[in-house]
Amino acid sequence: MKPFALALEVTSAVLGACREFLGEEGFVELLPVILAPVTDPLRTTPDRAIISAYGQNWYLTRSMIFHKQAAVRVCPKIFSFSPNVRLEPQERGSTGRHLFEFVQLDLEVREATRDVLMDLGERLLIHVLEEVRRDFGRELAARGRELLTYPRPFPRISWHEAKKEFGENFEEALSERSSIPVWIVDFPIDQREFYDREDPDRPGILVDMDLLYPQGYGEALSGGEREYQPGRIRARIMRQGLDPEDYAGFLRLAEEGLPPSAGFGIGIERLVRFILGLAHVGEVRLFPRIPGAAVSL
Ligand code: AMP
Ligand code: MG
Repeated sequence: MKPFALALEVTSAVLGACREFLGEEGFVELLPVILAPVTDPLRTTPDRAIISAYGQNWYLTRSMIFHKQAAVRVCPKIFSFSPNVRLEPQERGSTGRHLFEFVQLDLEVREATRDVLMDLGERLLIHVLEEVRRDFGRELAARGRELLTYPRPFPRISWHEAKKEFGENFEEALSERSSIPVWIVDFPIDQREFYDREDPDRPGILVDMDLLYPQGYGEALSGGEREYQPGRIRARIMRQGLDPEDYAGFLRLAEEGLPPSAGFGIGIERLVRFILGLAHVGEVRLFPRIPGAAVSL
């Protein structure tokens, strides 16, 4: 099989395996939202893609975070294969991990804790790897790639411990040195966006997590418990120097009542890149959008 055909077939198998797993867990698939009056603030990626229509601005969604929090009012477990446009700085084109258009499996669970989501994330990843190994194991082996079954639970390290042990570039170092997936938990409040929930028992620490792939493939997913009380959301928006007016619609929803929830988003291209051991995440897409790279179609 041509390398590209393999990437496309594995991507298709990954989507199928995710759907199958989440279906059995009682999740409902939500059609993705692509245009919205408000989207994820993502302070480390300041440029936003906007179109103007019907007398207002529409953001191309950078994640479905607010829509997920609203959707769990209706169904307790939801997911979406959500196309995201993030205008990543051009220098991120060479990290091997960044596209400016990608798809994440974005999911959310009403009344759930971080631990429940970490357990779900581990089982989801293992299920996907097993399915791909069953159908493509020989082709992968011929390319020198072996998919392992990792023991659970995956190890966890706090953001502060990781930084102390591995220095400023702890994420890279941890992913490179590890032969199994690793969780980073408990990010400091100013490292993340306003929607990750602050631990009521540990002010300044969030109840959130990232999962890192082994062998230097870097971040797999990010998630956490969510702020859902309007007063807390407003305070966090202000703390980050953002304007509550920009989030007025979401705040109104919170005032009507949002349930507590937790969730995560896992990048599909990064997952397939890891499975195939590819140098760049763009090799997963037939029409990749790599910051700074020329495109013909
Ligand atoms: P975030 O909530 O920003 O961590 O995004 C969720 C997941 O989407 C990340 O853990 C990655 O797997 C994936 N992701 C984020 N940004 C990009 C990007 N620019 N290109 C490809 N995948 C991405
Ligand atoms: Mg992240």
